Amino acid sequence: RAKDLGGGSHCAYMPSLHAVAEERRQLEVSLRHALERNEFLLNFQPVVDARSEQLVSFEALLRWHSEEHGLVSPAKFVPIAEDTRLIVPIGQWVLQQACMQAAQWPSHVRMAVNVSPEQLLEPDFSASVVRALSTSGLAPQRLEIEVTESIFLRDASVARNALEQVMALGCSVALDDFGTGYSSLGYLRKLQFSTIKVDRSFVQGAAQDSAESLAIIRAVVAMADSLGMTTTAEGVETADEVSLVRELGCTKIQGYYFGRPMSAEDACRVVGRSQTVRA
Ligand code: C2E
Ligand code: MG
Ligand code: MG
Ligand code: MG
Repeated sequence: RAKDLGGGSHCAYMPSLHAVAEERRQLEVSLRHALERNEFLLNFQPVVDARSEQLVSFEALLRWHSEEHGLVSPAKFVPIAEDTRLIVPIGQWVLQQACMQAAQWPSHVRMAVNVSPEQLLEPDFSASVVRALSTSGLAPQRLEIEVTESIFLRDASVARNALEQVMALGCSVALDDFGTGYSSLGYLRKLQFSTIKVDRSFVQGAAQDSAESLAIIRAVVAMADSLGMTTTAEGVETADEVSLVRELGCTKIQGYYFGRPMSAEDACRVVGRSQTVRA
């Protein structure tokens, strides 16, 4: 790789590789203390019904305000938390907080929580869901677990068992970022997902007149329909994108157009004020 960059760049490339590794190491050191230091926070992003534009749920999104590094994006720290398995206690905290928050809201508002493969491979994952539900008093039907296709990469049967246990409690499971990962349609037969979340890259593509993206969204919607699953269009930012994904038949819409991820306080205001979220 370094050779491609031409003569003399070999030496320049190595230090930057080292810098990346060093930054990662420092993030990891701080991440180990983040829970006890109370540096995590949840934001909540609204999801609306595509037809009525009424609020149906919020997705809980983790935020880390590190004393040493400032605000760190989940795209950066979640992979580190996964590699170090720190995501297990952190994810437990997320579940607990999200359930406690949702329990404060009207009962028609559901809560979606992202869960990493490492969490599902823990033998007591479903017990941790039971704990979060019972301490918060949240009805299981109001909790949706979001997983990505990556759960099928290794120990697929362990992950599947864990999700089946959670479904048996009454929770639902959504398939996040659909179409971006390792895609095999076989597992759609094996697990009854409630929702397929169509990744933002397809929504963006379709809005830019990519015939391929349009065809893919159409196909995903048709497949979801016939499997008894709903679809959520992710990352919808403009009125044109709203009309487009609505015409394509997506059931629900999430994205900056209807609301950015917001503080718990703002989310409480949204659920209290009205059912329409558009801010
Ligand atoms: P995700 O689960 O697919 O979450 C959606 C991401 O898209 C969020 O990024 C959200 O802020 C962003 N987004 C929503 N609407 C729009 C839009 O209209 N335009 C654009 N450009 N972006 C939009 P965020 O919060 O940075 O999270 C990134 C990823 O980090 C999440 O992707 C999820 O995979 C992971 N993550 C976040 N919180 C947690 C968590 O509590 N546990 C785990 N395991 N992963 C998490
Ligand atoms: Mg998600
Ligand atoms: Mg997503
Ligand atoms: Mg996505």
